[in-house]
Amino acid sequence: MGRIFNFSAGPAILPEPVLAQASDAVREFAGSGMSLLEMSHRDKRYDAIHEQVRAGVVETLGLSTSEYDCLFMGGGASTQFSLVPMNILTPGHSGAYVDGGEWGAKAIETARFHGDVDVIGSSKADNHSRLPVIGDVPSRAAYVHLTTNNTIEGTQMSNVPSMSIPLVGDLSSDIFGRVREHANFDLMYAGAQKNAGPAGVTLVVIRKSLLAQCNTLAPMFSYKVQADKHSVYNTPPVFPIYVVGLVLEWIAAEGGMAAVATRNERKAALIYNAIDNAAPIFSAAVPDTADRSWMNITFRLASKELEAEFLAEAKANGMDGLPGHRNVGGCRASIYNAFPEAGCKALADLISDFAVRKG
Ligand SMILES: *Cc1c(COP(=O)(O)O)cnc(C)c1O
Repeated sequence: MGRIFNFSAGPAILPEPVLAQASDAVREFAGSGMSLLEMSHRDKRYDAIHEQVRAGVVETLGLSTSEYDCLFMGGGASTQFSLVPMNILTPGHSGAYVDGGEWGAKAIETARFHGDVDVIGSSKADNHSRLPVIGDVPSRAAYVHLTTNNTIEGTQMSNVPSMSIPLVGDLSSDIFGRVREHANFDLMYAGAQKNAGPAGVTLVVIRKSLLAQCNTLAPMFSYKVQADKHSVYNTPPVFPIYVVGLVLEWIAAEGGMAAVATRNERKAALIYNAIDNAAPIFSAAVPDTADRSWMNITFRLASKELEAEFLAEAKANGMDGLPGHRNVGGCRASIYNAFPEAGCKALADLISDFAVRKG
């Protein structure tokens, strides 16, 4: 079967050259006579890649490895919802959280197991159909936590504020997808499986000066221990890390993150324009164009029946993964870095055509 247009929200599409190289490494890695899946994580040949990817993650974000460290951790972004407060929430202080959607809300709910939380901005009253306004940071706050791209609701921050206390970002669904002042962050994390690679590794990028201030914890939970051990305290997820490295090479070959981001903006505009021009059959879930995500485009049709008919037509035309998140319904087109422009054009054309036929 030919390759379909895969709009899945995650695990999500990977670049075809990356899949080819990853397949090769499964069969035999770099003339070693064994699969990468069979190689020791202490092998020099793996270690060279490990260190290359650690540096590559930091550099692709436009940051310097003298200021930031990259850790590869397990348990997905959801585990970071605990590890962030465990590492940087100090007694007598709170975590200040921005509630921009379901993932931000989960980060808040999880942080409450570890200490006090102050919510300093929420878009809940608007069903998260816009970005929250970030309010004052209380003096007791140890850090501010926000989500750059709200995967489920389809909003995305274009820039991030500069804070006088550590700023933490959940970048799970738009890491390497949009140019912004990443140096405003002291800590960023992302499950790899949306925009950076396969499931199984979580990228944690932390400012070295913050690392020095982290709480003392059992090794597997401690950013400090993980950094001291170059993220090989125990067996790291070798294969996902290797594939993240291939994705970084692919980004570089595409002209770097800025070039990929420019294309992302153009890809999203194709679909948003089609939706806006197809009213009232179609409507974007996020009305304010400045708040709209370039990664996850959420939209609805005028009725449940039309929605089902549209999704069936899309599927018949080789477009998969378009139903919205089970908690919010509607439709969602996830068009991460690796998603081809031709697929965006195909969806835009189907939206326009469908609206004409039903109008
Ligand atoms: C998918 C997602 C998560 C959860 O990631 P897991 O790796 O499944 O734990 C957290 N935050 C955001 C923004 C996401 O998109």
